[in-house]
Amino acid sequence: MTTLDVVNPVWTGDFAVNVTGLRCRECGETEELGASHVCSWCFGPLEVAYDEAAIGSRVTRERIAAGPRSLWRYGDLLPVLSDDPAVRVDLGTGFTPLRPAPRLAERLGLRELWLKDDTRNPSGSFKDRVVTIALSAARALGIDTIACASTGNLANSVSAHAAAAGVRAYVLIPRDLERSKILGSAVYGANVVAVDGNYDDVNRLAAEVADVEGWGFVNVNLRAFYAEGSKTIGYEIAEQLGWELPDHVVAPLASGAMYVKIRRAFQDLQRHGLIDAEIPRMSGAQATGCSPIAEAYGRDSLDIEPQRPDTIARSLAIGNPADGYYALKVARETGGAIGHVPDDEVVAGIRLLAETEGIFAETAGGVTVANLVRFVESGVIEPGERTVAVISGNGYKTVEVLSDTVGPTFEVAPSLDELRAAIAG
Ligand SMILES: *Cc1c(COP(=O)(O)O)cnc(C)c1O
Ligand SMILES: [Zn+2]
Repeated sequence: MTTLDVVNPVWTGDFAVNVTGLRCRECGETEELGASHVCSWCFGPLEVAYDEAAIGSRVTRERIAAGPRSLWRYGDLLPVLSDDPAVRVDLGTGFTPLRPAPRLAERLGLRELWLKDDTRNPSGSFKDRVVTIALSAARALGIDTIACASTGNLANSVSAHAAAAGVRAYVLIPRDLERSKILGSAVYGANVVAVDGNYDDVNRLAAEVADVEGWGFVNVNLRAFYAEGSKTIGYEIAEQLGWELPDHVVAPLASGAMYVKIRRAFQDLQRHGLIDAEIPRMSGAQATGCSPIAEAYGRDSLDIEPQRPDTIARSLAIGNPADGYYALKVARETGGAIGHVPDDEVVAGIRLLAETEGIFAETAGGVTVANLVRFVESGVIEPGERTVAVISGNGYKTVEVLSDTVGPTFEVAPSLDELRAAIAG
């Protein structure tokens, strides 16, 4: 039986090991479970191989509904490497609100729009979903030092989860990151390594140090587990719509993993008979200053040409995206599009979302909303499509980008006369 404490969302219920190993996404060869991410046959990327029959015999809508108000309610569908609940790291991530957005929908000319509000996660971004899963897997594998290469949000999340688990953490970030994202890692006591380079330089360094130090890098050698956490956005959208699917989903793309895994989640639910609905059209959002996936989409190609990022949307600034190819396939196969917007539209998108729906998102949210605007204008999204947009990070992390555009409306002395004169215009 599952016990659910309404104050503490941590699941103390039963878990069964449900993974059989790792499998190559290219050639299909299987490997033993471990902290490895490339196929030893073809160097393709590895993913988690599940015991699908065991999962199918356990998972039901009722079991999910009886779970905690966190992403662990979908524990049966996530990688469980150990039945010892003590390996799990849980700050209460996920099961974030799926909110109707009637005012924004009206501004855009959409009949029905919903926002998946991932600004609400413990460290303020969607990254808590992937870190919860990766760190839990790492502990089951006996790894005692956790690390990441990050554009900021991942570093914040790894630092927070490592602190809660009592695990040593090294987070590698580009030196010129937003101040709040550096503080938001250091405060948890993690070792913050500021690297003089961009994200792709940091990522290369991470791969090198992972090999020699034996650290568990959540987005490098633990990437197979990490990526599974993103599926929970898809599970939640389905459950929160009453086990239905929308017509169209819009999500931001950095590496492309989240976007790819949302579709995978919908496929999982179909396969296990939890939904009886068609896969939505899936559209992706990038910033022009780092748009390698959108650019390939525009050329109608599956080949990514790496870019050198230059955009305020730092959390999406991955110039050589690991899942770019798979993301392009998802867009093609579902009839979606992948677009990009310049930085001034990103800022406008942040403000539009805040002013219409009361959600303050970081730049990635601005990218998503600004692309949504364009998708509706250009007819990629039809007015009648029931649409969900994924808002993936909290605006308090990137206040710098707004400092020139928003500020006090009136500045007055503490005098009633002056105040009344000011508001009278
Ligand atoms: C990392 C991140 C994403 C996208 O991540 P993927 O690498 O594409 O999975 C989106 N939004 C925010 C705020 C992020 O931090
Ligand atoms: Zn292979």
